[in-house]
Amino acid sequence: MKVIEHLEMAKGPLFSYEIVPPPRGRSVDDITSIVKGLMDFNPPWIDVTSHSAGATYNERADGSIERKISKKRPGTLGICGIIQNRFKIDTVAHLLCNGFTKEETEDAIIELNYLGIHNILAIRGDGLNYNKKVSAERTINNYAIDLVQQLSALRQGEFLDESPNSSSIDFGVGVAGYPEKHFESPNLGYDLHWLKQKVNAGADYVTTQMFFDNKHYLSYVEAARAAGITVPIIPGIKILKSYGQLQSIPRHFHVDLPDQLVSQVLESPEHIEELGVKHAISQVEGLLASGAPGVHFYIMNDISSVIKVVERFSTHL
Ligand code: FAD
Repeated sequence: MKVIEHLEMAKGPLFSYEIVPPPRGRSVDDITSIVKGLMDFNPPWIDVTSHSAGATYNERADGSIERKISKKRPGTLGICGIIQNRFKIDTVAHLLCNGFTKEETEDAIIELNYLGIHNILAIRGDGLNYNKKVSAERTINNYAIDLVQQLSALRQGEFLDESPNSSSIDFGVGVAGYPEKHFESPNLGYDLHWLKQKVNAGADYVTTQMFFDNKHYLSYVEAARAAGITVPIIPGIKILKSYGQLQSIPRHFHVDLPDQLVSQVLESPEHIEELGVKHAISQVEGLLASGAPGVHFYIMNDISSVIKVVERFSTHL
Protein backbone atom coordinates (compact mmCIF):
# COMPACT_ATOMS: atom_id res chain seq x y z
CA MET A 1 0.00 0.00 0.00
CA LYS A 2 1.15 3.55 -0.63
CA VAL A 3 1.99 5.91 2.23
CA ILE A 4 -0.83 8.23 1.21
CA GLU A 5 -3.28 5.29 1.37
CA HIS A 6 -2.02 4.38 4.85
CA LEU A 7 -2.61 7.97 5.91
CA GLU A 8 -6.06 8.14 4.37
CA MET A 9 -7.17 4.86 5.95
CA ALA A 10 -5.57 5.43 9.37
CA LYS A 11 -7.88 5.34 12.37
CA GLY A 12 -5.26 7.12 14.48
CA PRO A 13 -1.75 8.54 14.22
CA LEU A 14 0.84 6.37 12.46
CA PHE A 15 4.39 5.75 13.69
CA SER A 16 6.82 5.05 10.86
CA TYR A 17 10.57 4.47 10.93
CA GLU A 18 13.64 5.23 8.87
CA ILE A 19 16.58 2.89 8.68
CA VAL A 20 19.98 3.12 7.06
CA PRO A 21 21.60 0.27 5.07
CA PRO A 22 24.48 -1.35 6.99
CA PRO A 23 28.01 -0.32 6.09
CA ARG A 24 29.52 -2.21 3.13
CA GLY A 25 30.60 -5.68 4.21
CA ARG A 26 28.15 -6.03 7.11
CA SER A 27 25.41 -8.63 7.17
CA VAL A 28 21.79 -8.00 6.33
CA ASP A 29 21.06 -9.53 9.76
CA ASP A 30 21.83 -6.03 11.09
CA ILE A 31 18.65 -4.91 9.38
CA THR A 32 16.43 -7.92 9.99
CA SER A 33 17.06 -7.72 13.75
CA ILE A 34 15.94 -4.06 13.72
CA VAL A 35 12.81 -4.90 11.78
CA LYS A 36 12.02 -7.79 14.15
CA GLY A 37 12.33 -5.33 17.04
CA LEU A 38 9.83 -3.00 15.40
CA MET A 39 7.27 -5.67 14.50
CA ASP A 40 5.47 -5.40 17.89
CA PHE A 41 4.59 -1.81 17.03
CA ASN A 42 2.92 -2.56 13.67
CA PRO A 43 4.94 -0.18 11.53
CA PRO A 44 2.78 0.96 8.61
CA TRP A 45 5.91 1.55 6.56
CA ILE A 46 9.68 1.71 6.92
CA ASP A 47 11.87 4.09 4.92
CA VAL A 48 15.29 2.90 3.73
CA THR A 49 17.81 5.63 2.98
CA SER A 50 19.99 5.77 -0.11
CA HIS A 51 23.65 6.73 -0.33
CA SER A 52 25.68 7.79 -3.31
CA ALA A 53 29.31 6.85 -3.79
CA GLY A 54 32.05 8.95 -2.24
CA ALA A 55 35.82 9.14 -2.38
CA THR A 56 38.19 7.88 0.30
CA TYR A 57 41.91 8.53 0.32
CA ASN A 58 44.51 6.10 1.69
CA GLU A 59 48.25 6.46 1.91
CA ARG A 60 50.15 3.63 0.22
CA ALA A 61 53.39 2.20 1.68
CA ASP A 62 55.42 4.27 -0.82
CA GLY A 63 53.79 7.48 0.45
CA SER A 64 51.59 8.01 -2.61
CA ILE A 65 47.89 8.56 -2.15
CA GLU A 66 45.34 6.08 -3.38
CA ARG A 67 41.84 7.36 -4.18
CA LYS A 68 38.96 4.91 -4.02
CA ILE A 69 35.37 5.49 -5.02
CA SER A 70 32.77 3.35 -3.34
CA LYS A 71 29.34 3.37 -1.78
CA LYS A 72 29.73 3.03 1.97
CA ARG A 73 26.14 1.87 2.39
CA PRO A 74 24.88 0.06 -0.69
CA GLY A 75 21.75 -2.09 -0.78
CA THR A 76 18.71 0.19 -0.50
CA LEU A 77 16.65 -1.72 -3.07
CA GLY A 78 17.55 -5.17 -1.73
CA ILE A 79 16.78 -4.16 1.85
CA CYS A 80 13.41 -2.77 0.78
CA GLY A 81 12.73 -6.08 -0.97
CA ILE A 82 13.55 -8.09 2.16
CA ILE A 83 11.43 -5.97 4.49
CA GLN A 84 8.54 -5.85 2.06
CA ASN A 85 8.50 -9.50 1.10
CA ARG A 86 9.81 -11.28 4.20
CA PHE A 87 8.17 -9.11 6.85
CA LYS A 88 5.20 -7.88 4.79
CA ILE A 89 5.80 -4.28 5.83
CA ASP A 90 5.53 -1.58 3.19
CA THR A 91 8.82 0.09 2.45
CA VAL A 92 9.70 3.51 1.11
CA ALA A 93 12.85 3.43 -1.00
CA HIS A 94 14.77 6.69 -1.03
CA LEU A 95 16.00 7.63 -4.49
CA LEU A 96 18.56 10.38 -5.00
CA CYS A 97 19.42 12.82 -7.77
CA ASN A 98 23.08 13.12 -6.76
CA GLY A 99 25.22 10.26 -7.91
CA PHE A 100 22.58 8.64 -10.10
CA THR A 101 21.67 9.21 -13.73
CA LYS A 102 18.05 9.35 -14.83
CA GLU A 103 18.64 6.08 -16.63
CA GLU A 104 19.81 4.40 -13.40
CA THR A 105 16.79 5.84 -11.61
CA GLU A 106 14.46 4.40 -14.22
CA ASP A 107 16.12 0.99 -13.81
CA ALA A 108 15.73 1.26 -10.03
CA ILE A 109 12.00 1.98 -10.38
CA ILE A 110 11.55 -1.04 -12.62
CA GLU A 111 13.39 -3.17 -10.08
CA LEU A 112 11.33 -1.80 -7.18
CA ASN A 113 8.15 -2.49 -9.13
CA TYR A 114 9.21 -6.11 -9.66
CA LEU A 115 9.88 -6.36 -5.91
CA GLY A 116 6.35 -5.12 -5.17
CA ILE A 117 7.53 -1.83 -3.67
CA HIS A 118 5.23 1.08 -4.40
CA ASN A 119 6.70 3.96 -2.42
CA ILE A 120 9.56 6.31 -3.20
CA LEU A 121 10.95 9.30 -1.35
CA ALA A 122 12.43 11.61 -3.99
CA ILE A 123 15.48 13.37 -2.59
CA ARG A 124 18.28 15.43 -4.07
CA GLY A 125 21.08 14.18 -1.81
CA ASP A 126 23.90 16.30 -0.45
CA GLY A 127 27.09 17.50 -2.10
CA LEU A 128 29.65 14.81 -2.63
CA ASN A 129 33.41 14.81 -2.39
CA TYR A 130 33.28 13.01 -5.71
CA ASN A 131 31.46 14.02 -8.87
CA LYS A 132 30.51 11.03 -10.92
CA LYS A 133 31.35 11.52 -14.59
CA VAL A 134 28.19 11.36 -16.65
CA SER A 135 28.63 10.40 -20.28
CA ALA A 136 27.02 12.55 -22.94
CA GLU A 137 24.28 9.99 -23.64
CA ARG A 138 23.14 10.00 -20.03
CA THR A 139 21.01 12.57 -18.20
CA ILE A 140 20.72 13.71 -14.61
CA ASN A 141 18.23 15.17 -12.16
CA ASN A 142 19.64 18.26 -10.47
CA TYR A 143 16.95 18.95 -7.89
CA ALA A 144 14.35 16.76 -6.22
CA ILE A 145 11.66 18.39 -8.34
CA ASP A 146 13.36 17.03 -11.49
CA LEU A 147 13.25 13.56 -9.96
CA VAL A 148 9.57 13.98 -9.01
CA GLN A 149 8.87 14.95 -12.63
CA GLN A 150 10.64 11.84 -13.87
CA LEU A 151 8.66 9.71 -11.41
CA SER A 152 5.36 11.34 -12.44
CA ALA A 153 6.14 10.57 -16.08
CA LEU A 154 6.78 6.91 -15.20
CA ARG A 155 3.46 6.84 -13.37
CA GLN A 156 1.95 7.77 -16.75
CA GLY A 157 3.95 5.05 -18.52
CA GLU A 158 6.38 7.55 -20.08
CA PHE A 159 9.85 6.04 -20.05
CA LEU A 160 13.01 7.93 -21.02
CA ASP A 161 13.03 6.20 -24.38
CA GLU A 162 9.86 5.26 -26.10
CA SER A 163 9.39 1.61 -25.19
CA PRO A 164 6.91 -0.52 -27.13
CA ASN A 165 3.97 -1.82 -25.03
CA SER A 166 5.23 -0.01 -21.94
CA SER A 167 2.83 0.21 -19.03
CA SER A 168 2.57 2.78 -16.27
CA ILE A 169 4.18 2.01 -12.92
CA ASP A 170 2.00 2.65 -9.91
CA PHE A 171 3.78 4.10 -6.89
CA GLY A 172 3.46 6.85 -4.34
CA VAL A 173 5.96 9.70 -4.07
CA GLY A 174 7.06 11.58 -0.97
CA VAL A 175 9.45 14.52 -0.70
CA ALA A 176 11.48 16.20 2.04
CA GLY A 177 10.54 19.38 3.91
CA TYR A 178 12.55 21.48 6.36
CA PRO A 179 10.75 23.13 9.31
CA GLU A 180 13.92 25.10 10.06
CA LYS A 181 14.39 25.71 6.30
CA HIS A 182 16.88 23.93 4.07
CA PHE A 183 20.37 25.22 4.81
CA GLU A 184 20.89 26.48 1.24
CA SER A 185 17.64 28.44 1.10
CA PRO A 186 17.81 32.19 1.66
CA ASN A 187 14.58 32.02 3.66
CA LEU A 188 11.63 29.78 4.44
CA GLY A 189 9.47 31.36 1.74
CA TYR A 190 11.98 30.34 -0.94
CA ASP A 191 12.09 26.81 0.41
CA LEU A 192 8.29 26.57 0.49
CA HIS A 193 8.13 27.87 -3.08
CA TRP A 194 10.16 24.84 -4.21
CA LEU A 195 8.28 22.50 -1.90
CA LYS A 196 5.06 23.60 -3.57
CA GLN A 197 6.61 22.94 -7.00
CA LYS A 198 7.52 19.42 -5.85
CA VAL A 199 3.93 18.83 -4.75
CA ASN A 200 2.55 20.32 -7.97
CA ALA A 201 4.87 17.99 -9.88
CA GLY A 202 3.24 14.98 -8.21
CA ALA A 203 4.44 14.45 -4.63
CA ASP A 204 1.71 12.94 -2.43
CA TYR A 205 3.12 13.87 0.97
CA VAL A 206 6.06 15.50 2.76
CA THR A 207 8.28 14.03 5.47
CA THR A 208 10.14 16.62 7.48
CA GLN A 209 13.72 16.88 8.53
CA MET A 210 14.17 16.16 12.25
CA PHE A 211 13.41 18.97 14.68
CA PHE A 212 13.66 19.08 18.46
CA ASP A 213 11.20 21.87 19.14
CA ASN A 214 7.62 21.30 17.98
CA LYS A 215 7.07 24.99 17.43
CA HIS A 216 9.20 24.69 14.25
CA TYR A 217 6.91 21.99 12.85
CA LEU A 218 3.70 23.77 13.81
CA SER A 219 4.70 27.08 12.24
CA TYR A 220 6.05 25.25 9.18
CA VAL A 221 2.74 23.47 8.62
CA GLU A 222 0.92 26.77 9.05
CA ALA A 223 3.20 28.50 6.52
CA ALA A 224 2.92 25.57 4.08
CA ARG A 225 -0.88 25.65 4.26
CA ALA A 226 -0.82 29.43 3.72
CA ALA A 227 1.37 28.81 0.66
CA GLY A 228 -1.28 26.44 -0.72
CA ILE A 229 0.48 23.14 0.09
CA THR A 230 -2.32 20.80 1.13
CA VAL A 231 -0.69 17.34 1.24
CA PRO A 232 0.06 15.60 4.58
CA ILE A 233 3.23 16.80 6.30
CA ILE A 234 4.66 14.02 8.47
CA PRO A 235 6.90 15.22 11.32
CA GLY A 236 10.28 13.49 11.58
CA ILE A 237 11.99 13.21 14.95
CA LYS A 238 15.23 11.80 16.26
CA ILE A 239 15.89 10.79 19.83
CA LEU A 240 18.99 12.36 21.34
CA LYS A 241 21.23 9.53 22.53
CA SER A 242 24.81 10.66 23.04
CA TYR A 243 26.66 13.71 24.27
CA GLY A 244 28.49 14.10 20.95
CA GLN A 245 25.17 14.63 19.19
CA LEU A 246 24.88 18.05 20.84
CA GLN A 247 27.34 19.13 18.17
CA SER A 248 26.99 16.56 15.41
CA ILE A 249 23.21 16.93 14.94
CA PRO A 250 23.23 20.71 14.37
CA ARG A 251 26.33 20.37 12.17
CA HIS A 252 24.97 17.60 9.93
CA PHE A 253 21.29 18.44 9.85
CA HIS A 254 21.27 22.23 10.30
CA VAL A 255 18.74 22.14 13.13
CA ASP A 256 18.68 23.74 16.59
CA LEU A 257 18.50 21.97 19.92
CA PRO A 258 16.30 23.70 22.51
CA ASP A 259 18.08 25.55 25.35
CA GLN A 260 16.31 23.56 28.05
CA LEU A 261 17.33 20.19 26.59
CA VAL A 262 20.94 21.28 26.13
CA SER A 263 21.11 22.66 29.72
CA GLN A 264 19.72 19.43 31.12
CA VAL A 265 22.33 17.39 29.23
CA LEU A 266 25.14 19.68 30.33
CA GLU A 267 24.03 19.35 33.96
CA SER A 268 23.82 15.56 33.88
CA PRO A 269 25.52 14.12 30.78
CA GLU A 270 25.40 10.65 32.35
CA HIS A 271 21.62 10.76 31.96
CA ILE A 272 21.64 11.68 28.28
CA GLU A 273 19.68 8.62 27.19
CA GLU A 274 16.85 9.17 29.69
CA LEU A 275 16.75 12.86 28.84
CA GLY A 276 16.57 12.09 25.12
CA VAL A 277 13.70 9.64 25.63
CA LYS A 278 11.85 12.03 27.96
CA HIS A 279 12.19 14.86 25.47
CA ALA A 280 11.00 12.70 22.57
CA ILE A 281 7.95 11.49 24.55
CA SER A 282 6.93 15.09 25.20
CA GLN A 283 7.50 15.94 21.51
CA VAL A 284 5.31 13.04 20.38
CA GLU A 285 2.58 13.99 22.91
CA GLY A 286 2.61 17.56 21.60
CA LEU A 287 2.57 16.48 17.94
CA LEU A 288 -0.31 14.08 18.41
CA ALA A 289 -2.25 16.68 20.41
CA SER A 290 -1.75 19.17 17.59
CA GLY A 291 -3.23 16.75 15.03
CA ALA A 292 -0.06 15.59 13.23
CA PRO A 293 -0.85 12.60 10.97
CA GLY A 294 1.76 10.53 12.79
CA VAL A 295 5.45 10.60 13.67
CA HIS A 296 8.38 9.40 11.58
CA PHE A 297 11.32 8.22 13.71
CA TYR A 298 14.85 8.58 12.39
CA ILE A 299 16.15 5.50 14.15
CA MET A 300 19.56 5.29 12.47
CA ASN A 301 19.55 1.62 13.34
CA ASP A 302 19.41 1.94 17.11
CA ILE A 303 15.97 0.95 18.28
CA SER A 304 16.39 0.80 22.07
CA SER A 305 15.42 4.44 22.69
CA VAL A 306 12.72 4.36 20.01
CA ILE A 307 11.09 1.36 21.68
CA LYS A 308 11.04 3.20 25.04
CA VAL A 309 9.24 6.11 23.37
CA VAL A 310 6.85 4.14 21.20
CA GLU A 311 5.85 1.82 24.08
CA ARG A 312 4.38 4.85 25.83
CA PHE A 313 1.95 5.29 22.95
CA SER A 314 1.14 1.62 22.38
CA THR A 315 -2.60 2.23 22.79
CA HIS A 316 -2.43 4.34 19.62
CA LEU A 317 -0.87 1.53 17.57
P1 FAD B 1 15.58 19.85 -3.05
O1 FAD B 1 14.12 19.76 -2.89
O2 FAD B 1 16.12 19.69 -4.44
O3 FAD B 1 16.05 21.27 -2.46
C1 FAD B 1 17.42 21.56 -2.25
C2 FAD B 1 17.60 23.07 -2.11
O4 FAD B 1 17.42 23.70 -3.39
C3 FAD B 1 16.58 23.75 -1.21
O5 FAD B 1 17.24 24.85 -0.61
C4 FAD B 1 15.48 24.23 -2.16
O6 FAD B 1 14.78 25.35 -1.64
C5 FAD B 1 16.27 24.57 -3.41
N1 FAD B 1 15.62 24.22 -4.67
C6 FAD B 1 14.80 23.17 -4.92
N2 FAD B 1 14.48 23.10 -6.23
C7 FAD B 1 15.13 24.13 -6.84
C8 FAD B 1 15.24 24.58 -8.18
N3 FAD B 1 14.59 23.95 -9.18
N4 FAD B 1 16.00 25.68 -8.44
C9 FAD B 1 16.65 26.32 -7.45
N5 FAD B 1 16.59 25.95 -6.13
C10 FAD B 1 15.84 24.86 -5.84
N6 FAD B 1 20.07 12.33 1.87
C11 FAD B 1 20.62 11.23 1.34
O7 FAD B 1 21.75 11.29 0.82
N7 FAD B 1 19.97 10.01 1.37
C12 FAD B 1 18.74 9.88 1.90
O8 FAD B 1 18.17 8.78 1.89
C13 FAD B 1 18.11 11.04 2.45
N8 FAD B 1 16.88 10.96 2.99
C14 FAD B 1 16.29 12.10 3.49
C15 FAD B 1 14.99 12.01 4.00
C16 FAD B 1 14.36 13.14 4.53
C17 FAD B 1 12.95 13.03 5.05
C18 FAD B 1 15.05 14.38 4.55
C19 FAD B 1 14.40 15.60 5.14
C20 FAD B 1 16.34 14.48 4.04
C21 FAD B 1 16.97 13.35 3.49
N9 FAD B 1 18.25 13.39 2.96
C22 FAD B 1 18.83 12.28 2.42
C23 FAD B 1 19.02 14.66 2.96
C24 FAD B 1 18.82 15.46 1.65
O9 FAD B 1 19.48 14.80 0.59
C25 FAD B 1 19.41 16.86 1.80
O10 FAD B 1 18.72 17.57 2.79
C26 FAD B 1 19.55 17.65 0.53
O11 FAD B 1 20.43 18.75 0.79
C27 FAD B 1 18.26 18.27 -0.02
O12 FAD B 1 17.42 17.33 -0.53
P2 FAD B 1 15.95 17.74 -1.05
O13 FAD B 1 15.35 16.58 -1.70
O14 FAD B 1 15.20 18.42 0.03
O15 FAD B 1 16.38 18.83 -2.16
